[in-house]
Amino acid sequence: MVAEPAWPVNTLPRLYVDEKLLLEAVIVPDRAQAHYLISVMRFKMGSQLVLFDNMTGEWLGEVIEADRKHLQIKIIHHLNEKEAIPDLWLLTAPIKKGRIDWIYEKACELGVARITPVITQRTIVDRVNLERLQAHIVEAAEQCGRTSLSEVSEACSLKQILADWPEERALFFADETGGESMISAITQRKGPAAILIGPEGGFTDQEREMIHQIQQAVPVSLGPRILRADTAAIAAAALWMATAGDWGKQPRQGND
Ligand code: SAH
Repeated sequence: MVAEPAWPVNTLPRLYVDEKLLLEAVIVPDRAQAHYLISVMRFKMGSQLVLFDNMTGEWLGEVIEADRKHLQIKIIHHLNEKEAIPDLWLLTAPIKKGRIDWIYEKACELGVARITPVITQRTIVDRVNLERLQAHIVEAAEQCGRTSLSEVSEACSLKQILADWPEERALFFADETGGESMISAITQRKGPAAILIGPEGGFTDQEREMIHQIQQAVPVSLGPRILRADTAAIAAAALWMATAGDWGKQPRQGND
């Protein structure tokens, strides 16, 4: 869908399109997008919006043909290159529908590069609907001004993920039984990173042992309270972004 950022009020709607954009190309939004733009945003000839494609940055588009159900949008100006996103992966055991959707939406807003559902021994959700999660990522990216989408990866077992663990990537393992303070752990290990969050039932001792075998794994604590998995995922991602990510940068103003 198309999202209209809440602030500033005069910001143009942003639309993700699944095709490579270039100057003077003509884009035909799909039915749902066209419906939103025409019926809700009252789009007509000459209306403008921002488009991005997860490849070439973002562009200004203008309606060059409109009727009650269809629109044609011409790309008239390149606004920004695709941003460089901090190299953080979020590995999270799938939890029930509303809560996992929330994790994907918030992680995208926070700037996470890739999100992977991890199947652990106590995972109770047996099906992950990647299409629905992808739709949440698109909507969050449109709303928050990202020019790149968080990558939505296939579900994978914890064992497999650990077996293929990349040498250069730190693995901050949120351990509900305790670990290093998250901020000091991050400060000591800048560079590519991942955060691992368990399911509602937590990790088993066997899994803890398996994780400890990984040289890059650092058990971290998120404080004295047991957080729900969704809270833990977003709190940890925010801490990483503020400490090692790009939160030193200022928000982009409007569509410039
Ligand atoms: N049922 C478990 C808690 C699981 S909470 C118990 O009662 O112990 C779900 C996940 O959130 C955990 O596996 C862990 O990854 C993360 N988490 C929650 N609270 C945490 C904390 N205080 N420190 C570190 N990780 C935490």
